[in-house]
Amino acid sequence: MNTYQINKIKNWFHISWQITSKCNLKCRFCEVPERFKSYKEISSRKAINFIKKLKEIDNCRIFWGGGEPLLREDLFYLSNYAKKLGMSIGFVTNGVLLKDKVNDILECGINLVVVSIDGSSPVIHDFHRGVKGAYTNAIEGIKCLLTYRKNISEPSIAIATVATHYNISDLGNIIDLAAKLGVDAIFIRPVQPPSSGKGCDFALSPNEVSMAIDVIQQKKNEYEGIIHIQASEVYIQHFRNIGRWNINSNLKCFAGKNFLHITPKGEVYPCWQFDTCTAKYNI
Ligand code: SF4
Repeated sequence: MNTYQINKIKNWFHISWQITSKCNLKCRFCEVPERFKSYKEISSRKAINFIKKLKEIDNCRIFWGGGEPLLREDLFYLSNYAKKLGMSIGFVTNGVLLKDKVNDILECGINLVVVSIDGSSPVIHDFHRGVKGAYTNAIEGIKCLLTYRKNISEPSIAIATVATHYNISDLGNIIDLAAKLGVDAIFIRPVQPPSSGKGCDFALSPNEVSMAIDVIQQKKNEYEGIIHIQASEVYIQHFRNIGRWNINSNLKCFAGKNFLHITPKGEVYPCWQFDTCTAKYNI
């Protein structure tokens, strides 16, 4: 098991950090690039200063998101700095630039790479992601990374799938694809169209949520020991709530205790679900 264990980590502290809002895709259910485009991205210096502060926290892992983190020129500089301080580093990418960054990823010792794949073929994936060729690039990137990490245990490689009205019938095929590719894990999340209403036609109906849960559970049995499919009781509950944490449920919430979220503007929140409120702290 590598240092950014996919499944269970005890006493971890997870920083979900949207290091940029820039993106090279146009996903139909995402408003991040649009929402933050008029704000200045935080500088390398500010990011480094904040990483220094994180040094005080035991078992800290930073997970870069965006936007597309591989568009940020100092991504590996920041990652290297954090790695030298003993932190684990992961990131999520749409995969378009992945093939070209494989050397940087391996040299830096990135612990986890998560690639977004929303369809088992270009038709659905490229429709979701708004740009032709997105699927081919992402799959090529995954294959390249898998080839080059052959004799080492890191990075862990996972696929992240946004489950929507338009790919729900393809969900089983996407899990099959992930297993066939040989990635370590697949994380499936229900789409959460932004409050602006953009992409609201992508939302899952209650029936589709049930369908998704059935497929996830069935595939979990089929691929036991082959690929990690996120399907714990807590996770299924999360899926039933369509990705929103239900504060009335008795499930444990880590926000602010083991989890922080940072926006492209540098605002710090206990969880991304609060990121439309005014932040009390900005890095
Ligand atoms: S790749 Fe990510 S940041 Fe870019 S448009 Fe899609 S969901 Fe948004």
